[in-house]
Amino acid sequence: EAPLLEVKNLKKYFSINKGLLGRKKKFVKAVDDVSFTIKKGETLGLVGESGCGKSTTGRMLMRLLDPTEGQIYFEGKEISNLNDNQIRSLRKDFQMVFQDPYASLNPRMKVREIVSEPMVIHGIPKEERMERVEKLLTVVGLSAYHADRYPHEFSGGQRQRIGIARALAVNPKLIIADEPVSALDVSIQSQILNLLKDLQEEFELTYLFIAHDLSVVEHISDRVGVMYLGKIVELADKQSLYQNPKHPYTKALLSAVPIPNPRLKRERIILKGDIPSPSNPPSGCTFHTRCPLATEECRNKIPQVKEINPGHYVSCHLF
Ligand code: SF4
Ligand code: MG
Repeated sequence: EAPLLEVKNLKKYFSINKGLLGRKKKFVKAVDDVSFTIKKGETLGLVGESGCGKSTTGRMLMRLLDPTEGQIYFEGKEISNLNDNQIRSLRKDFQMVFQDPYASLNPRMKVREIVSEPMVIHGIPKEERMERVEKLLTVVGLSAYHADRYPHEFSGGQRQRIGIARALAVNPKLIIADEPVSALDVSIQSQILNLLKDLQEEFELTYLFIAHDLSVVEHISDRVGVMYLGKIVELADKQSLYQNPKHPYTKALLSAVPIPNPRLKRERIILKGDIPSPSNPPSGCTFHTRCPLATEECRNKIPQVKEINPGHYVSCHLF
């Protein structure tokens, strides 16, 4: 069966000067040759530090940003070359849940209007909208009587539930959740994650779940991709990635995740230095400035993505 979504060699380069007066045009390679698939009904976690290109990838999938190069296929059909009109009809199938439930809900709109908005855009009649809003609020763990309140009357977790109700309003096929729990208290995070997981089962949803922390996506993901400076450095099913990580960066990220069983002690790998500026990335393997295993080859040669086990992709000279 064809995947619901397929991304091939996706790139997004932003120019940071205009190349005038004989200056060399400079680019930030925000997303640099990223490929992955998402099957129907599955969750792909996409993890990396801020600035690694994960949100830019999500925004290209939503077609809020045009790719510089590469293709996006949805249900086998290329969507990276559509015009604005064609994109509009596609929007129904793609919805987004945002990081900040405080900023992403219009404070002057009642919950009813917020949740209805995508239905208005996609021409669902008023009567049906009103009925659906109340159902959706119940589905996300709120109640019909919340419909006539304003966002400021809700807690962060409740606001994120409203954001999720809005995302579900037009029966999307793919939900891109961009750090949907990062702004919430830890005690609330697992409630929202469980809600997303329940809704996935109930409505056969497919998720791209973006996070900066491997522990957040572990429970919800079927497969996980790890990004560093615009590239996916490792991608595997959850089991392989968490139990048998290969890339030194994945290992370092995982070593920072506390594990419930203290006898399975993992050695903490502390990475030296900060993440380099994407406008001036290191040569060769862009991780070499922080990698504890870097060699001369790493400084000079860009590693290619290799499939080292079925479905387990790594980009590192050690493999
Ligand atoms: Fe480290 Fe070299 Fe592998 Fe890059 S290619 S992750 S620098 S060992
Ligand atoms: Mg982001």
